[in-house]
Amino acid sequence: MTLRARFTLFTVFWLIFILILYNIFVYFFVIRVTTRGELQLLTNKANLVIESLRKQGMRGLEDPKLLSDMYNSNEMIRIVTGDVRVVNEIGTADLLSIPPQMQAYNFSETRQINGHRAIYLSVPFFDQGHLIGTVEAARFLTVLDSYLQILVGALSVTSIGAVVFAIFGTYWFTSRLTGPIGQMVQTMREIDRSGKLYRVKLNGREESVELQQMVRAFNQMIDRLDRTIEHQKHFVADASHELKTPLTVISSYTDMLKRWGRDNAEVRNEAIEAIAKESERMQNLIRSMLTLAEAEQDNWLDITRFDVTSVVRELSEVLGKTFQREIRVHSDTQTVSIKADKEKIRQLLLILIDNAIKYSKEPIDVRIRQQKNVIKLEVTDYGIGVPESEIPYMFERFYRVDEARHRSTGGSGLGLSIAKKIIDIHEGSVEVYSKSGNGTTISIQLPRKH
Ligand code: ATP
Ligand code: MG
Repeated sequence: MTLRARFTLFTVFWLIFILILYNIFVYFFVIRVTTRGELQLLTNKANLVIESLRKQGMRGLEDPKLLSDMYNSNEMIRIVTGDVRVVNEIGTADLLSIPPQMQAYNFSETRQINGHRAIYLSVPFFDQGHLIGTVEAARFLTVLDSYLQILVGALSVTSIGAVVFAIFGTYWFTSRLTGPIGQMVQTMREIDRSGKLYRVKLNGREESVELQQMVRAFNQMIDRLDRTIEHQKHFVADASHELKTPLTVISSYTDMLKRWGRDNAEVRNEAIEAIAKESERMQNLIRSMLTLAEAEQDNWLDITRFDVTSVVRELSEVLGKTFQREIRVHSDTQTVSIKADKEKIRQLLLILIDNAIKYSKEPIDVRIRQQKNVIKLEVTDYGIGVPESEIPYMFERFYRVDEARHRSTGGSGLGLSIAKKIIDIHEGSVEVYSKSGNGTTISIQLPRKH
């Protein structure tokens, strides 16, 4: 069942239920109020009869004039005395057929006489404490009943009208309400069918906040997917481009080897040297790409508590020895404990120190600072630096400040994008201070996490 049909059905049934209750209440309330009015009228008449009897000292009980003064059509008035004998009466035959009664108390009721509602009343009258008789009065409620019929008719018409309006109103309203949902479903089907991403466009203005939010969330998701797919496409394009260069170099040197390599030792050595260098570059590139791909997965972190200074010292020593460079480690305290993924932090430091080694010739400074909520790791070199305009792009994949510079250093431009991933996943931040020709400081802040 559609949402629209369910909504309409629910509203209509609920409305019918409320209307039935309301109509029943109005009907019985009107009956009660009007019947009470009629009864009051009859009581007044009976009291008047008793009053005039009392004035005459209870004489003239049988005087027809006593009752005819009070009489109205569709009524009956009579006087019943001690032995349940009617001594005086006036009125319509139907009402006079009610059997006379003698009661020492006021009594009233509505009863059905020949298919019509009538109200009946009996009031006793006394003389010096002795029950003399009762005045009985009755009246057909025909006028009242005809009013009631009109009321029932009016209530039925308005109720049916309300239900019809409710059906059309709810149907119209829910159509407007579910319109955007229908549009979204259509867009999703279109996406499924064509394999392309589309945003949901709203026809006209949508007023309900929830639906606006839903459409906005859907469009945001589409935008994100779009960006991710774009990103992926770029990555594949960049990666194949990057792989193409070393492969071209390798295949051209292999050609050279095939032709002249057997006889010419110089050519042979050059070719072997170049092939080795290019395959190493390719190996590094693929390793970096795999690390990046791995970083996309959620369960990438292995958090432990460790001393970050010892990691820095050990790494600096190894790299310093390997590349024959001076790397100075500065730390405020002997040990700095951190909660993080040890291997990833090591990798991060390796990427930064590797850059510092590659892009400078002077000694390198690594600083570890422990602050209230963060731990700062800074790698400073005094080398070629980065122009200010290039700083925002340094962390992008395959980005290299200077293509010519890169050919000689052999970098792939993935190091800093891996570093950024590691920083992000540790909820840290990074700042770059650099001046072309003066050197670079890369400063990383990691939350301390007690
Ligand atoms: P990879 O690290 O993947 O082998 P790479 O070093 O070229 O290659 P990144 O580490 O991502 O790539 O750095 C991107 C670019 O930023 C580098 O090519 C370089 O131009 C510039 N850069 C990074 N660190 C420094 C630095 N300390 N001094 C000067 N330039 C730097
Ligand atoms: Mg690098």
